[in-house]
Amino acid sequence: MSSIPAQIPAYIDANAKAFVDRLARAVAIPSISGDVNNRKDVFAMADFLEGELVKLGVSVKRAKLGKQVLDGVELELPDAILGTLGSDKAKKTILLYGHFDVQPALKSDGWDTEPFVLTEDPETGRLIGRGSSDDKGPVLGWLNAIEAYQKSNVEIPVNIKFCFEGMEESGSEGLDELIEAEAKAGGYFHGVDAVCISDNYWLNTRTPALTYGLRGISYYKITIAGPARDLHSGVFGRTVHEPMTDLIALMSKLVTPSGDILVPGVEDLVAPLTEQEKARYVSLDYSVSDVEHSAGAKVALSDDKATVLMGRMRYPSLSLHGIEGAFSAPGAKTVIPAKVSGKFSIRLVPDQTPATVDPLVIAYLKSEFAKLNTKNTLSIENLHGGKPWVADPDHWNYEAAKRATKAVYGRAPDLTREGGSIPVTLTFAESLGVNVLLLPMGRGDDGAHSTNEKLDKSNFLQGSKLLGTYLWEVAKS
Ligand SMILES: [Zn+2]
Repeated sequence: MSSIPAQIPAYIDANAKAFVDRLARAVAIPSISGDVNNRKDVFAMADFLEGELVKLGVSVKRAKLGKQVLDGVELELPDAILGTLGSDKAKKTILLYGHFDVQPALKSDGWDTEPFVLTEDPETGRLIGRGSSDDKGPVLGWLNAIEAYQKSNVEIPVNIKFCFEGMEESGSEGLDELIEAEAKAGGYFHGVDAVCISDNYWLNTRTPALTYGLRGISYYKITIAGPARDLHSGVFGRTVHEPMTDLIALMSKLVTPSGDILVPGVEDLVAPLTEQEKARYVSLDYSVSDVEHSAGAKVALSDDKATVLMGRMRYPSLSLHGIEGAFSAPGAKTVIPAKVSGKFSIRLVPDQTPATVDPLVIAYLKSEFAKLNTKNTLSIENLHGGKPWVADPDHWNYEAAKRATKAVYGRAPDLTREGGSIPVTLTFAESLGVNVLLLPMGRGDDGAHSTNEKLDKSNFLQGSKLLGTYLWEVAKS
C-alpha cells in the first residue's frame, strides 16, 4: 500500500494559522481541574471540544462521571467526551485518548507571558501557554489530522474512537470505572484493536520518540510520635526519645546516596536486563549532559549514558520527599517536635507491583525501627500506588508509528520508557487487552507542569502530520 497522500500534510501546512488560532481558543479556557473555581471552565472546555468534534462529523457521547468533594465543596466531575468516527467492519478501530484539563497557572508564578493567552514567540517559534503541550496541542493535533483527511477528500483508513477526559491532572477520577465498563461486550470501547495516547514528550529537543513503558509508584508516609506535645531542647534534650532523631535514623536506611535501594528484596523483583533491551538504551539520542541540562546542574549519578537512562527508565528509584511536622521556618527555634511524618516513594518497574513491594517495605521499616530501641511509636501509611506498565515496542501498533515518524521527520524514533506514571495507560492495556502506544508531540523541554509551558509550532504542525500519518500506517498493519 502507498504512503499517505501528499495533500494531507500539505493541508496542515496551508492551514497552520487556523490551527494555531484554534489552539489559542482552547488555551484561553482555563480548564484547571484541581481548582474549585475553575470547574465551570473545565465544562466549557468540554463544550468547546465537543463542538469541534461534531464539526468533523464525530458522533459524541458525554459520559457523566459522578461527583467529587474538592476543598470541602461537592462538585460535578467533568464529563468525559467519548466519540466515534467510522464503523466500517473491514477497518481497524483505534482508540485515541487525551485530556482537556490543565495544571494551575498564574502569571505571578513566574510566567513571562499571560498563561492563558497563547503567545507565539517569533524568534523561537514557541507557542507559549498553559496546556499548549499538555495536552491541548496533541488533542487538537488529532482534530487537525482528521480535518486534513476530510478536506483532502481522502477516506480515513481506520475507525476512530475518542476518549478525552477533563480530570487527568487531578487523578483521572472516575475514568478507570468508565473504561472498565465500556471495555466489556456491548460497551463503547469494545472491539478496539489498539490504543494511541499523545500526552508525553520526546526525551530531548531533537529526536521524535515512541514510549513503551512507564514506571509505577508506591508512596509512603511514616509517622513517629512520642511526647504529648512539642518540647524544648533545653529542658528535654538527652532526656527523652526524640521522634525526629528516630525518623532521620529510619529514613537514612532506605536508600544510599548513589541511589541503591536498601529495602531487602525490592531490587530482586526487577525483571532481568536483556542484551536486546540494553542495546536500546545505548542507541538513544541522549547524553549525560542532557540530564544535567534539565536538572540545571552537573549532578548526574553516573557518567555513563546507558546507566543514567536505565536509572530513569528500567530500574526502580527511591526518593525522600519531605518531613511533615518538622521545624522548617527560618531562624533557630529549639523545638523537639512531638510527631513527625516522613514521606518517600518508590518508582516501580516490571515485575514490581505495589502488592509485592509494600509488604517488603513495611516489614523492613518495622525491623529497622525495632533496632532503634526507642519508646516512640511508628505508624506506616501507603498514600497511593500504581503498577508499572510496559508494552511490546515491536507490535504492529508501534511499527506503524515508527513508519509514520520516518515519513514525517525523516528519521527513526527513539524508543523510550518514562520515569513517571500515566495511570490510564495501564487501565486501557488491562481492560481492553490490546497494545497501547504513547506517541508524543512535544519536546523534552516543554515544561508541561511548569511556568512558560510551550509547544514548538513545528512540533504542533509536524506532530499533527505525524498523528495523521500514524492513522494511515496503522491501517496497513
Ligand atoms: Zn498530560
